[in-house]
Amino acid sequence: MHARLFAAALFLAAPIPALAENAAPPSAPAAPAAKPAIRAAGPRLVEPHLHIEKSKDPKRPRVALTFDACMGQTDKRILYTLLEKRIPATIFVTARWLKHNPDTVKVFLANPDLFELEDHGENHIPAIDYATTVYGIATAGSPVAVGREVAGGADAMKAAGIETAPRWFRGATAKYDLSAIREIRAMGYRVAGYSVNGDDGSLLGAAGVEKRYAAVKDGDVIISHINQPTHAAGDGIAKAILALKERGVDFVRLSDVDATGDFETTTQAKPTL
Ligand SMILES: [Zn+2]
Repeated sequence: MHARLFAAALFLAAPIPALAENAAPPSAPAAPAAKPAIRAAGPRLVEPHLHIEKSKDPKRPRVALTFDACMGQTDKRILYTLLEKRIPATIFVTARWLKHNPDTVKVFLANPDLFELEDHGENHIPAIDYATTVYGIATAGSPVAVGREVAGGADAMKAAGIETAPRWFRGATAKYDLSAIREIRAMGYRVAGYSVNGDDGSLLGAAGVEKRYAAVKDGDVIISHINQPTHAAGDGIAKAILALKERGVDFVRLSDVDATGDFETTTQAKPTL
């Protein structure tokens, strides 16, 4: 499921043809009766989960909507639903997206009670500090490049007039190696995983999206995309948000409540020696 999510997101976003993570490279010999190699040797990649503190009120389950704005445009079906219903959300923006969506940035900044803006990197490059590919996309490849991706995203936010410095980072593909997580934590960010995949990289059909959203529970963090206005997924997201609101869901932003992620994405980073 995750592979499909991010392969889809990256395929849409990047000019590089997506390569399924578990697909053998064209030159690889077939491995008879064995699982295909997942990746070349290298540190383990993780895809962290994130949960927010539960409300523990069955009538008011608490849910965080998070949207990635990887590159491309603005899905106004989602944006207007959030605005009209005054539903708060956390938006992860890249430098690339900011550059092409100044009008949406103005809307975000005009509604600081609704939108928390966080760092999705400069160039939408996986924040992994050794050279490999994830879904066919080359990773940052070194600690220096991971740092540049994170800091470049934050710099672009500042340049776009976003005065509140980001406190969360979510990298392209949402996969990391553990040393990259430690590096990003040491830069002062928490790393934003998620607990519900809302839209499979915006390629899920509207009905499928609605089903995913309908299944959310108290304390969930949903990831979806707000940068694909032509996809059916956005229709499903807009409808699904309204349905959750009808159900009494209490929407919060990541900065509004305590949040706990695995792989030390939110705990205090250990000092590096
Ligand atoms: Zn993205």
